Amino acid sequence: MKRFKVRRILIEREAEKDSLSKKIIGKLPNIPIERAGSNELALRDDIEEMDKDSLRLIHYKGEFLKPCPGTRRYICCGYQILNVGINCPMECTYCFLQSYVNQPSLRLFTNLEDELNVIGEIIDNQPDRIFRIGTGEFTDSLALNYITGWTDFLLPFFSVRKNCILELKTKTSFIKDIIKSSYRKGIVAAWSLNTSRIIANEEGKTASLKERIISARECQKAGFVIAFHFDPLINYPGWENEYEEIVQLLERYIDPASIIWISIGSFRYMPELKWRILKRFPGTHIFNGEFVTGLDGKQRYFKPIRVKMYANLSERLKKWHDNLGIYLCMESDDVWEQSLGWSPKNSSALSNYLDNRVRMLMRT
Ligand code: SF4
Repeated sequence: MKRFKVRRILIEREAEKDSLSKKIIGKLPNIPIERAGSNELALRDDIEEMDKDSLRLIHYKGEFLKPCPGTRRYICCGYQILNVGINCPMECTYCFLQSYVNQPSLRLFTNLEDELNVIGEIIDNQPDRIFRIGTGEFTDSLALNYITGWTDFLLPFFSVRKNCILELKTKTSFIKDIIKSSYRKGIVAAWSLNTSRIIANEEGKTASLKERIISARECQKAGFVIAFHFDPLINYPGWENEYEEIVQLLERYIDPASIIWISIGSFRYMPELKWRILKRFPGTHIFNGEFVTGLDGKQRYFKPIRVKMYANLSERLKKWHDNLGIYLCMESDDVWEQSLGWSPKNSSALSNYLDNRVRMLMRT
């Protein structure tokens, strides 16, 4: 997989003094830089384009550590998001970030390193709580690491804290930087997985399925705990056999004993996102089939379809290994029961279940 190219850097005046801005500009010496205030940048936004070859260096004024927004009225896992930036250079047709039309470009928050102490205080002041933290909800954790050097300062920062883990979720094969780090404890290397057909047709510019699994194997061999996310499962003719092929690859390359969890979720989207996706990706097949409006207003596959897909995949995964920490992403109690044969019943019990996996595999 090749590194992504950056065409220009846009830097807000407030971001110029931040240490990460200086490092990023130092790593891209020949890229033109435009300087402007945040309002000026906003005025220049072309909201129809994602402008994914521009880096925007932004002094972030919000909170860096926030609970995952989850979704109303479904069981959520209690994850915390570390807001390192928004958008990524890859092109998944289903990416919900496309609905943030007023936030184009690859947006990097340059005061992150300078404000780690605030995050440290939050974590250290609650020593009995486990913080499961990830950077990969609003961007890809590793796609831009060669520019940002996130792993240089985030791995040592989180690894030494006993009550948290940092999960780096990616669709890339860019593992060189984490492998060269000397920090392992408390760090989870994670891959989103999908069938080769979905990767080829719906996940543009990402690593192939095999590249992702080989990267996971390399990280596992280097001593990292790993995780996988089958999300979004896409319903299409032949999905059973093609998701089965993923499990066969996992069986071939991965030691299941150091998998901390595997999440499963199905394709869902807010209705307004559909038209934006069709405009950017008119050839997409992700809207094939029928959808129903869920309790949170998102469109989802009908419940029997979701249950069938979850049950099929989870049964197959359990045949491989019976202790993989499988959980469903944003589903209801009855869908859990019908597809996995058990349910945590509520979000707090799911959090406890995942926290216990952290204690068992990483923080004992
Ligand atoms: S990798 Fe994630 S953040 Fe990047 S385009 Fe795909 S879904 Fe969006």
